[in-house]
Amino acid sequence: MSILVVMEQRAGAWHRMSWEALAAAQQLGAELQQPVSAAVLGADVSGLATELAGKQLARVHAVEHGLLKDYTPDGYTVALRLLIASAKPRLVLFPHTYEVRDYAPKLATSLERVLVSDVVSHRVESGELVLVRQLFQGKLNVDVRFASEPPCFASVQAGAYRADKVMAGSAAVEKFTPEIAAAAIRTKPQELFRESQRAVDLTGAAIIVSVGRGIKEAENIPIVQKLADVLGAELAASRPICDGGWLPMERQVGSSGQTVSPKLYLAVGISGAIQHLVGMKGSKTIVAINKDPEAPIFEVADYGIVGDLFQVVPALVEEIRKAKG
Ligand SMILES: Cc1cc2nc3c(=O)[nH]c(=O)nc-3n(C[C@H](O)[C@H](O)[C@H](O)COP(=O)(O)OP(=O)(O)OC[C@H]3O[C@@H](n4cnc5c(N)ncnc54)[C@H](O)[C@@H]3O)c2cc1C
Repeated sequence: MSILVVMEQRAGAWHRMSWEALAAAQQLGAELQQPVSAAVLGADVSGLATELAGKQLARVHAVEHGLLKDYTPDGYTVALRLLIASAKPRLVLFPHTYEVRDYAPKLATSLERVLVSDVVSHRVESGELVLVRQLFQGKLNVDVRFASEPPCFASVQAGAYRADKVMAGSAAVEKFTPEIAAAAIRTKPQELFRESQRAVDLTGAAIIVSVGRGIKEAENIPIVQKLADVLGAELAASRPICDGGWLPMERQVGSSGQTVSPKLYLAVGISGAIQHLVGMKGSKTIVAINKDPEAPIFEVADYGIVGDLFQVVPALVEEIRKAKG
């Protein structure tokens, strides 16, 4: 099946997950021996399209129209429907961004198709594509095969494919000007929402001590704070800790928190759910402390300590203090 990957940009800057979706599309294309093309939408995307042309692609579609200057679900849906009718891809792939969550189900439904969202991996069985996605907050993986006629639609979860695997090459850019009537766009874009400046920027930290639900109670947080202090580290956490208000939201690591890549990441009482892993698996060295030897965090850990954090962490603090003299 020929593959079309829809790249996301805002004000001329790529969304980083676009490269992950492109890497996924290139892998699928190689395994299915199908050509891959990419599309970028906007009012003037010539610069972005030229950048894309340096990747291993059959074609780059520069989808341009004045009404695509700002994102609207109606504008993007009309434009992509027309592009799909013209390019006839069998599979359309997206990064699973907030924008894609907004318009891609509408696009798929308008063509009487479904969107297979949040794909974490794939395999090819007897030439047939099998997509893997998660259910029940990552507790179950399900295999999905397309039963409908093409085009098929899927989006790729953050961190599931590696952007640095995108293959370079040379592709021709084709300009595509969709016909969009102003009346077709029912929403009026407002000024973009900007998050307030974060007081804590974990992205630049060299050492991070991150705590999970294994800590049991908010009152126990000082146990890991001591470890962070003695190492000169920032304290971070998994989502339940921040949801519970035990630490501020800005200290959350993961798909809905910060993405970090310190030299050392110590995961204390964290199970290693995919949503947490995507935020920290780029760390140089990962140390995990968990009492469950089967915890998925050990799959990404360079060093693992299987034990009770209430014994291990104070002992570590003690030893580090001694070593520092
Ligand atoms: C849309 C969405 C977005 C999400 N975004 C994020 C995100 O950004 N970041 C994030 O972290 N999660 C996120 N999650 C939640 C994620 O799926 C997990 O639920 C969460 O990461 C689990 O946190 P945890 O590892 O602290 O807790 P648990 O999964 O409960 O794990 C606790 C671990 O502690 C261990 N433990 C217990 N007692 C001890 C002890 N005494 N000593 C040592 N180990 C012990 C246990 O063996 C267990 O492995 C998201 C979920 C969804 C659906």
